[in-house]
Amino acid sequence: MASAKAASRNGEYLCIEVCLADSETAEILAAEAFEAGTAGIEERDSADGILLLLYVPAAAEAEVQAAIERVAPEARIGAPQRIAPANWSEQWKLGLTAAEISPRLLMRPSFVEAVSLPGQTQLIIDLGQAFGTGRHPSTHLSLEWIDALAPTLESRDPNWRVLDVGTGTGVLALAALRYGARVAFAFDLDPLATQATCANARANGIESGLEVFTGTLDAIADETFDLVVANLLRTEMMPLIAGIAARVRPGGHAVFAGLLRDECETVIAAARAVGLSHSGVREMADGNGDLWSALLMTQ
Ligand code: SAH
Repeated sequence: MASAKAASRNGEYLCIEVCLADSETAEILAAEAFEAGTAGIEERDSADGILLLLYVPAAAEAEVQAAIERVAPEARIGAPQRIAPANWSEQWKLGLTAAEISPRLLMRPSFVEAVSLPGQTQLIIDLGQAFGTGRHPSTHLSLEWIDALAPTLESRDPNWRVLDVGTGTGVLALAALRYGARVAFAFDLDPLATQATCANARANGIESGLEVFTGTLDAIADETFDLVVANLLRTEMMPLIAGIAARVRPGGHAVFAGLLRDECETVIAAARAVGLSHSGVREMADGNGDLWSALLMTQ
């Protein structure tokens, strides 16, 4: 990814829109586009099929265009749009710049250099092909909860354990390990997500304590955790709430993120029904003004 490194220095990125008829071609193109130096990909459904927005460092444009020509010669391709370097929030969301989560944690993609504050740890997170797992207020809020809870969890039990439900890029599990968790289990239904998690673990030199698998919550039979984080859509979360509650140690916590403010009541009620109590909420607006919430529940 030498070309991506060069481009990121002056922050020049292009957005290339490609409209594809089927998801199989979209998946192949995504893989090839990453290989050719694409830094981030957004997938949208469109009336004609699937729209891929490829965020490409300017220096990698020719290679990415060649990949599109090879994989999807029939695809409709939009004229590349330059992304203004000043559009920080879009670039951050797509994982194209460094982001300060707290005075203790800075996140950055591997191809961007960043200087951290004294005492601030850096976490390298690349999206890889983990679709739909771009950095989002819900990820930010989950990280804030981990940041806030870590000192207490550490003082209660230096061997504190974390479960990351729907790990995506692995960001929450890896952050917890950086904050001192002894063990983090991270799983996802999507094999591309667990692949990205393993790659990010390697990029950060985090090897011990991380258990990654592709699958469902049922695979974790008799384990309990000091903290369970679940950044999922409400519809994905609801069927998992009882199973999550059963895996939280007495006195431990669950963080339910990925919720819009008006979805919280239903989730709180379902969590209370299985013995969790509501002990906090963090909120953050996205670029559209929608308010995202991350609930803290306690066993
Ligand atoms: N934890 C990451 C990713 C959140 S996106 C972050 O905070 O940024 C949600 C992820 O949950 C997706 O990767 C999706 O594949 C996964 N997912 C959805 N339902 C799931 C389920 N029932 N079990 C496991 N993973 C699930």
